[in-house]
Amino acid sequence: MADAPFTLFNSLTRQPEPFQPVHEGEARVYTCGPTVYNYPHIGNMRAYVFADVLGRTLSFKGYKLTHVINITDVGHLTDDADAGEDKMEQMAAAKAQSIWDIAKHYTEAYWADVKALNIRQPAHWSVATDYIEEMLAFAAGIADKHCYELDSGLYFDVSTVDDYGHLARAVTEEGEARIAAVEGKRNAADFAIWRKTPAGEKRQMEWDSPWGKGAPGWHLECSVMSGKLLGFPFDIHTGGIDHREIHHPNEIAQNQAFCCSDGLDVAANSGARIWMHNNFLVERSGKMSKSSGEFLRLQLLIDKGYHPLAYRMMCLQAHYRSELEFSWDGLGAALTRLKRMVMQAERLIDVDEAEAETASAHPKFAALVGKFDSAISDDLGTPIALTALEEVLAVKKVDAGIKRAIVAKMDAVLGLGLLALNRTDFRIRPKGVETSEAEIGKALERRKQARAAKDFAASDAIRDELSACGVDVMDGDPLGWEWKLTG
Ligand code: AMP
Ligand code: ZN
Repeated sequence: MADAPFTLFNSLTRQPEPFQPVHEGEARVYTCGPTVYNYPHIGNMRAYVFADVLGRTLSFKGYKLTHVINITDVGHLTDDADAGEDKMEQMAAAKAQSIWDIAKHYTEAYWADVKALNIRQPAHWSVATDYIEEMLAFAAGIADKHCYELDSGLYFDVSTVDDYGHLARAVTEEGEARIAAVEGKRNAADFAIWRKTPAGEKRQMEWDSPWGKGAPGWHLECSVMSGKLLGFPFDIHTGGIDHREIHHPNEIAQNQAFCCSDGLDVAANSGARIWMHNNFLVERSGKMSKSSGEFLRLQLLIDKGYHPLAYRMMCLQAHYRSELEFSWDGLGAALTRLKRMVMQAERLIDVDEAEAETASAHPKFAALVGKFDSAISDDLGTPIALTALEEVLAVKKVDAGIKRAIVAKMDAVLGLGLLALNRTDFRIRPKGVETSEAEIGKALERRKQARAAKDFAASDAIRDELSACGVDVMDGDPLGWEWKLTG
């Protein structure tokens, strides 16, 4: 079912490339994880939906997947300037809590979003502070040839590796502004491998090192955890497109130094063979910014009555390399599309599934299976893959077990969980709505009787009463869902 040529867009070469695993039959993937100083916004979650679809596609194409996502609980500064403050320290001070409590709370919140979006569990969640010893060993290994010490820490000299910044191509003005000058740096792009605790200060998180008490730099963490858990070179490194400019070029420079390469041999010495980046989710009014009051986190969508998988649908409708603009209308449309699919798949829930190979060869499905495979194998073409799944759901007069097998196989890649959902899952109670389902049912029954008696004034009054309680009655709704909660 998955024989179409498989290509992925490699940001290093800016080309789609056939996927050729480093280890026969395996795929090893590292995804830059969240910095757990605050809730993730839905833009952050786009990065993990993308990495999840990548992992699911690799499984679909027959590779044994090892996926690592890290949790950054130290070292990520408030901006990319080494002079900034650690985001974790800053939040802990603002909330008067320990960093460990902050990390625990926001890691759990992130995992809740991961679950709600059907993002599969990776083989490892690697937590940065569990790898301090390995970071010190890595830093010691490259310090002599590639680093220099300043009062503020140990810095990586980017001129000691070939072709620094190749991944970024051109650093934009915005990128440049993010690399603030630290006094004494040899090159503007040099970055901290180890940040010393300033004399007379005490940080909540600090460790002894040959360069004094301090904490690791953020870039070091990802190099160390990816190399340790997946081995250099591994197959694919992912992150959001902002990482293409600074974080990932810095990881690559460290990896080159660590692998003792004389030049940037893209395949072997940059740590990963393929670097992939999702484009941003954008929102015009700035609600994605974590610093603004009501920022767009998944829970806000749920509080407004949207099923979280409507957001996954929204992500799948766009190619991961395209910018995606968030709007409530767009989310509503994605929800409706998802509901339609769920309604069609509901009929398949209690059916015995046919064998996948046989089902894929069925004359009514073979072409659609080919369409799905070609689309997803072409650099994760989820928008077309989705339409193939919809076409499968719409096929009439066919054995339900066969149809179910095809739906299951395609949905295993897209991860909507269609065969585990039913319409009642979509009656999400928005925050503040008190009315019970029984009360709604009774009111709707009274309304039905009023309409049967052609008492439209009474029927309208009941609709208005329900509306005042946050229940939207949907007359003539093509989906036949009768009502929804609006909050
Ligand atoms: P952070 O927690 O800030 O390290 O970000 C976690 C992930 O989200 C990284 O891979 C970022 O590149 C990615 N990211 C940040 N903002 C957005 C956005 N608006 N849309 C998509 N991905 C994003
Ligand atoms: Zn990273």
